[in-house]
Amino acid sequence: MVIIEGYEGICTCCFEPIRDGGGFKFRETGRSFHSRCVEKNPNSYYIKLEEIAARFEKACQEQLPRLITEMEQAYSIPILNNEAFNQDNEEVIQLYRKISQARDF
Ligand SMILES: [Zn+2]
Repeated sequence: MVIIEGYEGICTCCFEPIRDGGGFKFRETGRSFHSRCVEKNPNSYYIKLEEIAARFEKACQEQLPRLITEMEQAYSIPILNNEAFNQDNEEVIQLYRKISQARDF
């Protein structure tokens, strides 16, 4: 990634550079956003994905069904496995499967 002095990265929501101090990350290793983009668009594709991934890292068993439901609603995940959807939404389906598999029945 290109680091420009005075900037801390590129926002994955609006793709504009983030000035130092203007950024927000849900996870240490996750994507960067503008704080203002997160505030304005909490349900945009990558913001929601990072937010759910971060909550999943700290989630206990009781919280997993809620995360699964939230993902299904936010991304209209098909009930039956759908290869076209999976290809277009690779990271979404990866996280969705990870959460589903973390549930012990
Ligand atoms: Zn932004």
